[in-house]
Amino acid sequence: MSEKTDQRLSRRSFMKGLGITGGVLATSRWVHATPLRYFKPTIIDNPLAAYPDREWEKVYRDIFNHDSSFVFLCAPNDTHNCLLKAYVKNGVVQRIGPSYGYGKATDLYGNQASHRWDPRICQKGLALVRRFYGDRRVKAPMIRRGFKDWADAGYPRDPQTGKPDGKYFQRGKDKWLRISWDDAYKYSAKAIHNISKTYSGKKGEEYLTKQEYDPAMIHALEGAGVQTIKLRGGMAFLGATRIFGLYRFANMLALMDSKIRGVGPEKAIGGRGWDSYSWHTDLPPGHPMVTGQQTNDFDLFAVERANLLIVWGMNWITTKMPDSHWLTEARLKGTKTVAVTVEYSATASKTDEVLVIRPGTDPAFALGLCQHIIKKNLYDKDFVDNKTDFPFLVRLDNLQPLRPDEFIAGFKEPELTSVRFMKAGEKPQLVKSNRISSYPSPCARILDPMSFMITKPKNMCR
Ligand code: SF4
Repeated sequence: MSEKTDQRLSRRSFMKGLGITGGVLATSRWVHATPLRYFKPTIIDNPLAAYPDREWEKVYRDIFNHDSSFVFLCAPNDTHNCLLKAYVKNGVVQRIGPSYGYGKATDLYGNQASHRWDPRICQKGLALVRRFYGDRRVKAPMIRRGFKDWADAGYPRDPQTGKPDGKYFQRGKDKWLRISWDDAYKYSAKAIHNISKTYSGKKGEEYLTKQEYDPAMIHALEGAGVQTIKLRGGMAFLGATRIFGLYRFANMLALMDSKIRGVGPEKAIGGRGWDSYSWHTDLPPGHPMVTGQQTNDFDLFAVERANLLIVWGMNWITTKMPDSHWLTEARLKGTKTVAVTVEYSATASKTDEVLVIRPGTDPAFALGLCQHIIKKNLYDKDFVDNKTDFPFLVRLDNLQPLRPDEFIAGFKEPELTSVRFMKAGEKPQLVKSNRISSYPSPCARILDPMSFMITKPKNMCR
């Protein structure tokens, strides 16, 4: 069949079909004529005047009403620890907002905080109610089934290597079981005891050698199995508010060591308390080695008092949300800002200069900067001498810091006057410090605000 014939037939079929459809439509119009009249549009000039009941709007307006409120510390795994306010209705936290209380705080010396800390909250804090009531929140102790089976079987181990059977340790595949708090304590205590005992003494050293641990590590244990227990209390500033207890627990394990090895207090050793740098390198391990300070020893508000701010090793705008305004305000006050980064980050887009370097070349770049600063005599000698460990020399023979008694005949360390042990029952005396508090008065003196900030205080009383 030709294309032309096909088109002609199609047109004919189409016209025929149209006739049938028209008939169906006509029938349908007749059948549905009456119900269709309800679709006639109603014209309402003023919808608000015509609505029969507007009470429902109250429900909408009352969403932000609350029965009570309380202030709490938001403390997830960031270092911000914002004081937030929760609003409760019918016994349920309904929403969360900033507490607006920072400006009311004073330190021990009466310095009033600035209201500029507020509003302090981020998107995670705003959405925290979902974590309170989310169905994925863990509300009871849980134990991995394989681990429980291993514990219930009496902690069986390979007699040659001391290793438990791998079937008990199917992490990621295993089921989690809910247990009571009493059982959770029992399982934890018994496991810690079993591990400490297994790896104590000569037998413990043999096991660890067969498990191919580094001989230097095994030597460092000094025969105390409790040293294989590693604990981390959280980043330095978080600990002040909640989780340093794990370091105390590490020390407390010396009691267990004393019992297991039968040693007295002078030989008993606790578990290992690791810091954030050595534990998981969440923070840059090189930083405390070079600067002598942890990376979170400063308050970010201080940056506006610097002439030059180098943001390095942190994507401030993205990861320090409630504190990012200090960076913006520093720029408004004339601080020159530079980002050292491996990518064009959110922070890099805000600073005056961006130095994009290859990943892993930070130390070389830092040493280059130091060399330039020293060679051109660009450093503040007084600050460097008193506030950093730059003046320390390192011996090339043993890579240890050079100590004065090694080259000054008869040198004696001056007695520490700032640190002493208090007698039992003695109360600490408050010593007025020059160090700025977290809640600065407008004219507070900055001694050591940021380890990587080149500090030359500008006008303090802005
Ligand atoms: S920054 Fe956000 S998540 Fe972190 S403590 Fe503050 S409100 Fe909570």
